[in-house]
Parts: sequence; structure tokens; C-alpha cells
Amino acid sequence: MISAPSGAGKTSICREILALLPGLRQSISYTTRAMRPGERDGVDYHFVALDVFQRMIGDGAFVEWAQVHGNYYGTARAILEEASAEGADVLLDIDFQGAEQLRRSGLSGVFIFILPPDMEELRKRLASRNTDDEDVIARRLANAAGEIAEAVNFDYLVVNDVFEQAVEMIWAILIAETARTDRMIDTLPEEFGLK
Ligand code: 5GP
Repeated sequence: MISAPSGAGKTSICREILALLPGLRQSISYTTRAMRPGERDGVDYHFVALDVFQRMIGDGAFVEWAQVHGNYYGTARAILEEASAEGADVLLDIDFQGAEQLRRSGLSGVFIFILPPDMEELRKRLASRNTDDEDVIARRLANAAGEIAEAVNFDYLVVNDVFEQAVEMIWAILIAETARTDRMIDTLPEEFGLK
């Protein structure tokens, strides 16, 4: 799980991490947000109407969902179940509310929060993104303080000052996590007598 206030560079970092770790799957979320220029349905998100999203909530189709910046976002239960059945790892780019729901559900995951170096840099990055209207930028900046306050609930904090270093840090965390005793134990030979 990777969370961050918008503008912290999470989308670019996730893209790079997916390229570095080919075995890692991407969870494509459902959202009611309008498509941004350059985005593709079924690639960046599954873009759906509000009534479709609400029906999916009712059907229990989401393992977590949340309202973020006035739109709904959710992770499909099917994606995680399929990956779990196949023993694959999944990268989730979700907000702190979704991460909190998954943490509470006892999901065995690695919770990483990306921070901007400071608030001024966050404002600059949001403004230079050029994909959102002024009021959207203002709303996202206003929400950022509340989002950052949630960082203490995550396993790891990564400051995205120098992009390549932030990517390297997250890559190192994910690699190290695969060597944790509780994850390794089931993969070892019976003859070690460790199971
Ligand atoms: P954006 O609209 O900029 O793509 O995303 C806005 C926020 O929604 C980001 O913080 C992103 O992580 C979060 N988000 C994207 N997909 C999901 C999801 O499936 N569930 C939750 N809870 N948040 C999501």
C-alpha cells in the first residue's frame, strides 16, 4: 500500500516501482472522478458513474473504498483475491482512509507513506501539474495537512525530495520485506524443521 497527499509524486513513483519489480501487479482502482487528459479507462482507473460505484459498494465488490477530494475511489476485492490465490504481490496506490480500512481488516501488507519535503514544495508540484483547475488544486492542498497527520499510522515514511532516491528507498523496503521470517518460513524446505 502506498499513500501520500496528492502532489507528493506517488503516481510517478508507483510507475517506476512497477517497472523495477515485474512480478508486482498493479491494482487498477474504480473511481467516479472525471478522466484527466492522457488517462485511459481500464489502464489508469476504471472510470464509472456514481450509480455504478454505489451498486458495487452494495454488492460488496470493494475490499476498501473511500471518498477522496469529492470523488469515490475503491479497490476491487476480486483483484486481491486473485493475486492471493496465485501468490502474487499487488501494489495499491490508495489514500490513507483506504489504507486504514485494509490495516484494520488484518491484511498482511506493507504500508508506506510518501511525504513531500515541505508544504511549499507540495504547493508548487500541484500547481505545475497543470491537469487540475485552481479550485481542485486548492482543495487538494487544504486536504494535505489532514492526510499528512495520518502518516504516523504507516510502517514506513519516505520523503520524496530526490525522485530516484525515493524510488530506491521504496524498492529496498519491498525487497527487504520479502525476507521477513513470517513470509519466508513457508517457502523453506521441510527438512529445516522450521514450519
Ligand atoms: P487521483 O484523483 O489524483 O488519481 O487520486 C486521488 C487520491 O485517491 C490519491 O490519494 C489516490 O491514492 C487515491 N486513490 C486512488 N485509488 C484509490 C482506491 O482504490 N481507494 C482509495 N481509498 N483511494 C484511492
